Amino acid sequence: MGLARRRVQNAGVTRPDPRRRPARRPPSRRLPPWLLLMVGVVVLALAAAALTRGGGDDDAAQEAAAAPVRSTRTAPAAGQDVDLGPRDMELVRMAAKGQGVLSGGGTRPAVALTFDDGPDEYTGRILDELERLQVPATFFVLGRMIEARPGDLQRIVDAGHEVAVHTWTHPDLTRLDPARAREEITRTAQALGDASGVAPRLFRPPYGAIDPRVLAQIKRERLVTLLWDVDTGDWRRPGAQAIAAEAVQKAGPGSVILLHDGGGDRSQTLEALPEIVRGLRARGFEFTTAGDLLVSDPPRASDVVDERGSSYN
Ligand code: ZN
Repeated sequence: MGLARRRVQNAGVTRPDPRRRPARRPPSRRLPPWLLLMVGVVVLALAAAALTRGGGDDDAAQEAAAAPVRSTRTAPAAGQDVDLGPRDMELVRMAAKGQGVLSGGGTRPAVALTFDDGPDEYTGRILDELERLQVPATFFVLGRMIEARPGDLQRIVDAGHEVAVHTWTHPDLTRLDPARAREEITRTAQALGDASGVAPRLFRPPYGAIDPRVLAQIKRERLVTLLWDVDTGDWRRPGAQAIAAEAVQKAGPGSVILLHDGGGDRSQTLEALPEIVRGLRARGFEFTTAGDLLVSDPPRASDVVDERGSSYN
């Protein structure tokens, strides 16, 4: 008994929550030494298992209090994969291919609206409109805008939209030295994870500019590089009707539609949203986040690219 109790208490030193101490007790005061030894071994094994598992609710709560984004590192050790759900596992597998994805595979009547360069002054009104229309979307945010407008980022997250990485300062990564390019990606991914509590899985390079070196860097950060197959041209401000027509007419099953909530006057984008949603629903499409689209409708070989020059996004 003494041996077993001492060991239990030792376990309690490193695992301070008494509720999780193994409750096993020897049944009587006088037991043969071999049984005491066995009980001690069992207790030690239980304590060791609880410690190495590290996934108990109490541990998780303590970790969350100490480091709220422990699980949101963009390049976690391989062992952390066991904590990922099936959706994230699939996206991590996709990221390992190191390709630029344009769209889903087109096997489902679903499309994804994506908004780049925010959060910015139009983000709140775009969120209002998405809520009214009951449409989920994906926001490729800039790190410096997360810092500048934390409340808007929180609103995006709270509304259930997907948040994804679009660098810190919006550089053309193909023209940056590798260390700076890496920092643009990792710093933003970390800030996004810290602010949202969710590890981002998708990355969109500014200007859609990728080359094999940039793709290799994004792959190392375990992010899927998502470009788009439908550019609404909203950044040129051609008028709300023209923006909507481009989205509704050019989209097909699996389309990833490029829009902007940041980087300038986005009043036309905002005005175009109801018609984009109405028109695409009339064509039989439903809306999904980009990550869910890729998982439910994986890209085919023709939906990926290895290199692409700069275009506005
Ligand atoms: Zn952009």
